Amino acid sequence: MVQLQTPKYVYMGGKLRLWEDATLHVGCEALTRGLNVYEGVKGYWQADGRFGIVALRRHYERLRRSARLLHIPCDWTYEEYESAIFKLVNELVEPERDMWARTTLFVVEGYWGEGTVADLVITAYHQDKQPPQPINLGVSTWRRSVDVSLPSRIKTGTNYQVGRLARIEGRALDCSDMVLLNQWGRVAETTGACILMVRDGVVYTPPATEGALESITLDLVEALAKSMSIPFVRRPIDRTEMLIADEIAICGTLAELPLVKSIEGQPLSESSRILSALQKRYIEAVRGIDPHPSVKLSFLPSCNSSKSRIRVDLAASSLSPVSKQPV
Ligand code: PMP
Repeated sequence: MVQLQTPKYVYMGGKLRLWEDATLHVGCEALTRGLNVYEGVKGYWQADGRFGIVALRRHYERLRRSARLLHIPCDWTYEEYESAIFKLVNELVEPERDMWARTTLFVVEGYWGEGTVADLVITAYHQDKQPPQPINLGVSTWRRSVDVSLPSRIKTGTNYQVGRLARIEGRALDCSDMVLLNQWGRVAETTGACILMVRDGVVYTPPATEGALESITLDLVEALAKSMSIPFVRRPIDRTEMLIADEIAICGTLAELPLVKSIEGQPLSESSRILSALQKRYIEAVRGIDPHPSVKLSFLPSCNSSKSRIRVDLAASSLSPVSKQPV
């Protein structure tokens, strides 16, 4: 087996350090966009004062699938995964503030795929409760990678390097997110969410085979649409078709379901009837205001007592600052 040498010194941060002291923080972008697989999971304060995490088992299952494809061992059972998240969130959660947790399997040992060892690292960030705000969306010159190179259907940090470039491009255009086209020039997804488009009363979204992540939120939104008798179709979408759509929104765990107010600088009609209704229904489901059987919630066990009492006591005075973007 190939072994990496471990010489005594490394040059880092302007000086020589011992090999074992030359470390990077788990939150730094070199690592988060590197060799790892991860899940972003979102927890919401519920209408009844509990704290519920959305679709946790599905996130765990996708993490395992992503790890399998990249030959990264995942030795955590679902119960261990859940209890690790609960442990951290329970410690950090604040009254009236939701949380987004990034659960990452980092490759911490091994070389060229031999002797690979992974560690589960969880970071969690506060999120304000404001509903998703409408966004300007652009179309990037950067493209989604092809399935035979960096497969987009799984969630690996490496896939987000192109998203980083697209966001840099978008910032100059006043766009908070950018559409990545696939190798055929059709719509794949955005840097951190899936695309929903409405034409003549039907919601369309590209399937994962067009270069999109196998999204969990998309499945939930599809189930909500079905219950609301809104036609929902997965099929390829041309760039030009998106540009002349009646309504556009993006959806994902962190993004939730913001409406798109302009696409490539062209304003979309203010009356986003179908997607606004879906957005409202999604938020009601994840917050437990109007639960839905497809939107499963895992409740923080120790939170329904002390923290929720604090929540009630402090509800009137909770003015939280705008959340920093964790991804
Ligand atoms: N595409 C990309 C590139 C994403 O980062 C995300 C967010 N995880 C999504 C789609 C939506 O996936 P999910 O609904 O599982 O969060």
